[in-house]
Amino acid sequence: MWRTRIGAVDVLRVEEMLGPGFDPAFLFPEYDPAVLEEHPALAAPEFFDRASGKLMSSMQSWLLRIGDAVLLIDTCCGNDKPRTNAAFRRFHMLNLPYLDRLAACGVQPEQVTHVLNTHLHVDHVGWNTRLLDGRWVPSFPRARYLIGRAELAHWRDPDGGPRLHPEGIPVIADSVDPVIEARRADLIDDKDVILPGVSVHAVPGHTAGQLAVRVESEGAVALFTADVFHQPMQIVRPGWNSRFCEVPAAAIATRRRVLAEAADSGAVLFPSHTGYPHAGRVARDGAGFRFVPLPLAA
Ligand SMILES: [Zn+2]
Repeated sequence: MWRTRIGAVDVLRVEEMLGPGFDPAFLFPEYDPAVLEEHPALAAPEFFDRASGKLMSSMQSWLLRIGDAVLLIDTCCGNDKPRTNAAFRRFHMLNLPYLDRLAACGVQPEQVTHVLNTHLHVDHVGWNTRLLDGRWVPSFPRARYLIGRAELAHWRDPDGGPRLHPEGIPVIADSVDPVIEARRADLIDDKDVILPGVSVHAVPGHTAGQLAVRVESEGAVALFTADVFHQPMQIVRPGWNSRFCEVPAAAIATRRRVLAEAADSGAVLFPSHTGYPHAGRVARDGAGFRFVPLPLAA
């Protein structure tokens, strides 16, 4: 089992999928394959699948035990969800043992006290709900679901998310609206403290309302960075946005800021989609940065 600690906080990883994802030239419009020659560590099988030419992509929730609280950060893609958009093919009508893997971490769905969606993209909200008797119901019936107020407003504005990204409309309908209708949702804002030592911080760009989660415990600091970067190659190329970044200039500015702050603070970064070991620190490398994967106990 994947497990680490940030001070007194236990951090576990609940995997939904791990495997070759997008072709880098598709995911990153600025992609230049020279990056793999300049930084051979990025061509390691953990990050790049040579056979398919695709980037290794992880879909996971981060599970945090903080005192009596059980916090699930992001909820992957979910089962039984029709995702007919071509870019969402990997997420279409899944049948994966995500809840069994949660149980293997010692947590039943009713024991989750908080669910936090860093943003409302297809691969971050899916297990918010599950199909029961033909209806979408909250997967975590006793949890408060924490959703960014600005992010939700973007999807409530007909000229916002629905017009710019119509493929997200069914995602909101089956994975976000049901938890709001069930009165399980609380809206959160930049700098809110959601649990002792746990706060959320605006990291705009990938989406305008994206939030990162900062955890501080016993002098250790972690930042759950959502999709500030998808792949470690964006640490050496912070100017590369994914094609899914909604506000490109802000995404680059946020990425540079988060990387600089992490290099200075020594915070452990927990991104959403990076290959094994799925987390790490950032060090300065000349004028730029490099990725320092988190050492995990065997
Ligand atoms: Zn994502």
